[in-house]
Amino acid sequence: MTYTERFMVRPDESLSLADWDPRQNDGMRKKDGRQLLYDMRDELNDLQELLYASQKYALLILLQGMDTSGKDGVIKRVVNAFNPQGCEVTSFKVPTEEELAHDFLWRVHRRVPRRGMVGIHNRSHYEDVLVVRVESLFPARVWRPRYEMINHFEELLAHSGVVMLKFFLHISPEEQKERLERRLANSHSHWKFRLSDLRARSKWDKYMHAYEEALSRCSSEHAPWFVIPADRKWYRNLVVSNILLEKLRSLDMEWPTLEPGVDPDMEII
Ligand code: ADP
Repeated sequence: MTYTERFMVRPDESLSLADWDPRQNDGMRKKDGRQLLYDMRDELNDLQELLYASQKYALLILLQGMDTSGKDGVIKRVVNAFNPQGCEVTSFKVPTEEELAHDFLWRVHRRVPRRGMVGIHNRSHYEDVLVVRVESLFPARVWRPRYEMINHFEELLAHSGVVMLKFFLHISPEEQKERLERRLANSHSHWKFRLSDLRARSKWDKYMHAYEEALSRCSSEHAPWFVIPADRKWYRNLVVSNILLEKLRSLDMEWPTLEPGVDPDMEII
């Protein structure tokens, strides 16, 4: 079974996160997992170059998860196999006044990568059915119809050659507690610690419920959600890398040929 098959949320599956173990590691040792990850780097890099050269698809990697689940870590450890010239990372924060004056997809649509490029969305339009819902930032009549709108939006992107992979980094509240404590204990991590993280933590079950609905209603063949076991950082990275690799390998891409009139045997003087 491929990593894609194992960790993908089936379209129309009614997902229960309690069924997904955040500590999963296939009984593998960290050292071996890290080696496998290292061994994949060259192929990931080559396939990204092919994506860039062939200009047929854009790749959009979307990262969601509770605080400390490792969204930044995936960018640092997985996406760094790619050539930075072909990548655009966007972190979506609390919307600005200008963003709020537009529809909720406006800021996201502007940051969708063009063909050839890899876009990484650290948080995403899903915040508009997660934090907005749990914190009651807007009434239900505003966020309820958004699942449908998101599905239509993602269908539009798929039609224009955007290959989307959506990763939910699934950590346990126990693991988050340890990570937050480590942040407090290390002065170099203090900048990462926000009181708002504790607010979200205190509503853990509500967030999980909101994630379950978003993942159940918005996973499709063309824009699938994956539940990534994220209590072990190295295993999280390994699974995300494998899914990326499997997707890139499956794309029908070809190296462009020489421009007309250029003979490959010509002498370079
Ligand atoms: P990080 O992503 O590293 O946690 P921040 O600490 O700046 O970065 O957190 C970003 C905050 O912005 C999060 O609390 C997130 O829920 C919030 N946010 C993102 N998108 C929206 C949105 N559409 N509406 C309200 N809050 C949002």
